[in-house]
Parts: sequence; structure tokens; C-alpha cells
Amino acid sequence: MVIILTPAATESDVADLRRRLREFGYQSHLSRGEERTLVGAVGAAPPNKAAIMEALERLAYVERVVPITRQYKLAAREFNPGGSRFEVGGGVTVGAGSAVVIAGPCSVEGEEQIVATARAVRTAGAHMLRGGAFKPRTGPYHFQGLGDEGLRHLTTARAATGLPIVTEVLDPRDVARVAETADVLQLGARNMQNFPLLREVGRCSLPVLLKRGFSATYAEWLQAAEYLLSEGNRRVMLCERGIRTFEEHTRNCLDLAAVPAIRELSHLPIFIDPSHGTGRARYVAAMAKAAIAAGADGLMIEVHIDPHAAWTDAAQAIDSAEFGALMSDLAALGPLCGRPLHPVGGND
Ligand code: PEP
Ligand code: MN
Repeated sequence: MVIILTPAATESDVADLRRRLREFGYQSHLSRGEERTLVGAVGAAPPNKAAIMEALERLAYVERVVPITRQYKLAAREFNPGGSRFEVGGGVTVGAGSAVVIAGPCSVEGEEQIVATARAVRTAGAHMLRGGAFKPRTGPYHFQGLGDEGLRHLTTARAATGLPIVTEVLDPRDVARVAETADVLQLGARNMQNFPLLREVGRCSLPVLLKRGFSATYAEWLQAAEYLLSEGNRRVMLCERGIRTFEEHTRNCLDLAAVPAIRELSHLPIFIDPSHGTGRARYVAAMAKAAIAAGADGLMIEVHIDPHAAWTDAAQAIDSAEFGALMSDLAALGPLCGRPLHPVGGND
């Protein structure tokens, strides 16, 4: 349940409420909106839940108690009705009404490649740089990423461009190490339900981009987000990257309905990845524009300086010129859809 406090509620009222909730066997999580403070009570529902709700509603500093019957509570819209908005590094704020574009190669292949790509996407107006150092590959003989060397190249690319880094972490044992380089930790589709990893990243202070598993429902995806939130990490972004259907023409089936649906179900910002979502470079721009028209908070796009030579996901990478043209289209389209591009170089 979510307890909505009156505007006059004081800090000691909040403390009093949290003490009562503890006594009832709940954990409490605070959400401070612009006008209201909300307290989320989570935990196994006690048999006398209805009586507890009534007792809470009688407290002078409580305006209303809203039951949340879904499996996820802290990820539910009711917990933060105004929508989550937070900084992710380098002066970039997500959830503020402007579109944030994360661009870069699938994998970090070397210093020259990642620095050149970073410069190119920065020039075109990207806000953050992506690049995998640890790659979740379907087969064990495929390139698994440069690992620590890749992290060092990402650090060099950030120093060269100022772009904050989004990079994937695969293993709970690597979280602290990857967090030394990353500004945002990416949790990939294959790890959406890796619960020990979710818990470890939930305890980390960095923002997280949680990709949707390719056969996960919205409820499963939001429960995965709940693992992160319940461990205390509030800066969670969701990323739709295509789901598996019977269609074989595209690599995945990009579910753009996730944008309005997630906005209704949750307060978390929603990103779209049209690269993995289609698997074909020539479809990426159309789906990126459709995502912005649908109201996405941001995009994640694979860009390579020489797509044909890409070590991973070559078929879906667009080149710098294509990315530049897409960014110009988005600059024109965004304001018409209430999603102007986030300012480059910070929040000013
Ligand atoms: C990626 O972003 O390179 C990636 C592996 O994505 P996903 O987890 O969506 O397959
Ligand atoms: Mn990829």
C-alpha cells in the first residue's frame, strides 16, 4: 500500500508512520514528490491488512491510503504519480520530458574504435555513450568482450568527450569493478531475472538501465525492477528491446506499446532500443522516430564507425552519418511530440 501524507505532515510524522509500519511488519520506502510525501509499505500482507489500513487512515497526518494489489509496489505508478526524474551523470537528467539518446557500439573493440565512435556520436548530439566490455553471448565461442581492457577504453572515451558511460554488467562479482567505470549500469535482456545480480546492482549507488527479457511480461519486468528498488536503488530506467514472437524477418519484435503501457503502470522512465528491437540497421531510424512519437524518455542506439567491420551485432549498427541524420530528424520531430531532445552538454 501507499500512504499519502497531508501537505502539513512533518518529519516527525513521517518517522512516526515508519515506526508504526515497522511494528505492523512492513518495510517502508519514502517518495518525496513536489507537493506530497508518500510512504510505500511493502512486505507480505498481514491477515489484518484492512484493519491496518483503516487505522492508518485515521492518523491526522495521513490523507489517504491506497492499496496496491499488483505484485510490484515501489515500481507502481501510485508510488510516484508525477513520474521519476533523476540525474544519471554528466548533467543528463532522465524523466524530465526531454529525450535522452544513448549511442555507441555493441562492443568495445579497442581504444581507437570507441574513442572515434564517442566523438562521432557526441558531434551528432548523443547524450551518453554505450559500449559493452562484458558481452552476454548466446554461444560460448563467440567474442565475450574485452573485459577490464574494455572498461579502460571506455574511461578514455569519456575523458575525450565528456559523455557519461552506459555499460553492461553480467556477474554479481563484477558489479563493484564495472561501477568504477560506468555512470549507468546496464542489465541485459538475458539477465533480467538474474535475481542475485539484480540484488547486487540494487545495492549499488549508480543508476541502472534494465532491459526487458525477450519473453518477459510487463509484470515480470516490473518485478525485476522491484528487486532493484527494494534494495534501495531508486534510479532505475527500463528499456524495451524487442520480444520474441513467431516473426523471423526481424531479430525481435519491438513492442512500442510498452511506452504508454509502462507509463500507466509505473513511474520509471522508459527507453526504447530499436537496434536490438529490429536487428536491421535500415529499420532503426523509423522505429527510433516512432518511439519518440510515442513519448519514450529516451533511446539506446547501436552506432559503429564501420558497421560492416563490427565484431558484434553488425547487421543492426548504423554508421555515424546515419546517426547524424536521425538526430536531425529527432530534433525536428521531438518538440511536436512533447519530447524535445535533452540539451547537449548538461541541463542548461
Ligand atoms: C546490448 O545492449 O548490446 C545487448 C546485449 O542487449 P540485450 O541485452 O537487449 O540483448
Ligand atoms: Mn548489441
